[in-house]
Amino acid sequence: MIQLYIPLNFLGVLYREIKQSLTDLDKMFTLMEKEREVADKPGALPLGARPHPNPPPGGEGGRGEPGPYRRGEGAGGWTVRFEHVTFAYEPARTILHDVSFEIPAGKTVAVVGPSGSGKSTLARLLYRFYDVQQGRITIAGQDVREVTQASVRQAIGIVPQDTVLFNDTVEYNIAYGRPGASRAEVEEAARAARIHDFIASTPKGYGTMVGERGLKLSGGEKQRVAIARTLLKDPPILIFDEATSALDSANERAIQAELKSAAQNKTALVIAHRLSTVVDAHEILVMEAGRIVERGTHQQLLARSGRYADMWALQQSAEGERFAEVIGM
Ligand code: ADP
Ligand code: MG
Repeated sequence: MIQLYIPLNFLGVLYREIKQSLTDLDKMFTLMEKEREVADKPGALPLGARPHPNPPPGGEGGRGEPGPYRRGEGAGGWTVRFEHVTFAYEPARTILHDVSFEIPAGKTVAVVGPSGSGKSTLARLLYRFYDVQQGRITIAGQDVREVTQASVRQAIGIVPQDTVLFNDTVEYNIAYGRPGASRAEVEEAARAARIHDFIASTPKGYGTMVGERGLKLSGGEKQRVAIARTLLKDPPILIFDEATSALDSANERAIQAELKSAAQNKTALVIAHRLSTVVDAHEILVMEAGRIVERGTHQQLLARSGRYADMWALQQSAEGERFAEVIGM
């Protein structure tokens, strides 16, 4: 009996620990569900670890295989490709239809389109929360299904649409992007994400507990913690999924500038709710009902006078109205 009791008791403690370490159980199960969707192949190697049998001269723009990622390095070789990707969460309903695009190493590709068109799904697939049904996704020429999930996630920093924080300190939540970061580095990232002053104003500062049992943060504050985490992680590949959608416009403008500089020299997938943030993108993809319906640079898309041009005109006039309100016209 005693032998049985101890492990059960231990499991109970473990269960409570796990339960407390996440903001809520639903979210934990959602995460676990996602973990279970994909599994490493037996013997899968980390991304970038594959020895190239015969390096093509000038292949991948002459950068060759990137090798294991070291923090702070540029995006050399970290090209991302979606090749004829078709995907469904449930067999009965295909969400993405034959989606193909490339983000050359060090460039930004932006995705715009109405809600429900499949933009966040692209982000989830690149982060490999799910595997595609047809086609493939490659990073540095390697199919993400052939390499370890851990190495894919190490190479990518993601600011999701809805951030889930751990039920732990602010410091833990930011440093999670890079365990072992110093307090000074955590603070630097928090300043860049415009969340430092807020953190410093709380009695326990960076030691403040957040999440369900701690300080409840607003959507915008959580988003800024996620941005700080990603800036600190400083990975070669970035995904911003409407990363500033919950912020007020003053903070949004300031942080947009930070995100833009963070994306310099990185391979970035930027899902934008505000078109003015993507005018410099290498390519803009316009999604509708799971298909890319238009693509090109900002100028090319305006010249087409299609969906993008309409969206642009609409947002410009909306911004104009807001501006007029602000200056009292
Ligand atoms: P967007 O980011 O463009 O608003 P999403 O990629 O989030 O769109 O969603 C695309 C479609 O996939 C939507 O119709 C949405 O309802 C559906 N969807 C998203 N997540 C799931 C899921 N976990 N299970 C089933 N359907 C989903
Ligand atoms: Mg979305």
